[in-house]
Amino acid sequence: MRHSRSYPNVIRRWYRPVEHECLECHRTLREAVAVSRRTVITLAGVIKLNHAGYRCPDPQCVGHRRTYRSVEADALALPHFTYGLDIVLLVGRLRLREHQTVDEIHQELLTRLEPLGVKIARREILYLFEAYCTLLRASSEAKDDQQWLAQVKKNGGIIVSVDGIQPEKGNETVYLVRDALTGRVLAAENVTSSETAVMKALLAPVVALEVERKVKVLGTITDAQESELKAVEDLWPKVPHQVCQFHALRDASKSAFEADKQVKTAMRKRLQPKLRAVRKQIKKRLSTASPDEAKQLAVLDDYASGVLTALNTDGLQPFKYATVEESSMLDEIEASLQQLLKKGGQ
Ligand SMILES: [Zn+2]
Repeated sequence: MRHSRSYPNVIRRWYRPVEHECLECHRTLREAVAVSRRTVITLAGVIKLNHAGYRCPDPQCVGHRRTYRSVEADALALPHFTYGLDIVLLVGRLRLREHQTVDEIHQELLTRLEPLGVKIARREILYLFEAYCTLLRASSEAKDDQQWLAQVKKNGGIIVSVDGIQPEKGNETVYLVRDALTGRVLAAENVTSSETAVMKALLAPVVALEVERKVKVLGTITDAQESELKAVEDLWPKVPHQVCQFHALRDASKSAFEADKQVKTAMRKRLQPKLRAVRKQIKKRLSTASPDEAKQLAVLDDYASGVLTALNTDGLQPFKYATVEESSMLDEIEASLQQLLKKGGQ
């Protein structure tokens, strides 16, 4: 089963905005446009995403021209980038914190992406590092971006989304502040503390937009972290606030996810050696097999490789548990084998 281009494992995902109703007239939003359909390569997998934009159904409503987007989809990758934001952040960290050379970073990424069947070119590392630097400069650029400001005017304001992304090592977190309506990054900062004061400082460029460019804050979206909640509440007490369901779920599913990982590893450790032995045997038999027998052996080998693929399934927070996926894949294989047995018996 090969989906998008030549990547062996592609995860399909659908995204819609967290908002359900129009901020102006409170009618239920409807799916209106495809914001993007693209493939994004992240460290956790190759994702084929369908990102749907929603609008107020009432053409008379002042908010009718506003398109609501998904903050999660926008957080996966920067606009026009195939490599995910997690990879951009990793490149930034390896370069600036660990002082690795471009070649060393290239090597590390090749290793990390190999299980996904993805290769990355050396020059890509330079682009990604540039993207990282641009990202951290974002706050100084938004207020002079006339094209974006025109879009904001059309939308009647911005919806501020705060998202903390933690790299796998270290105690720093990269915070991204974005306008959820246009997807534009308004501020990005690498911080080691998540106190309310730090959060407020992070949001200062947004306050500047309000004061200097008369940009109206229509709403705020944060994850459930208290300091984030407190900061947006202090800064915009009258503005509607929403906790991003995705982040709340991701946090809530953490422990279940860890347990799932352990079961998955145990399953693989037990079954992988047996499968390897079976495949070795098949290979050996093939050398002396008749053409008919060879065909049968090839079918068996396909099954064995199917089981191996199932055992290497990765989960994805918050909804995709590896062992659930694995067992449904293994069930399918078993059903297919039973079918084969019936046919063979006839
Ligand atoms: Zn409306």
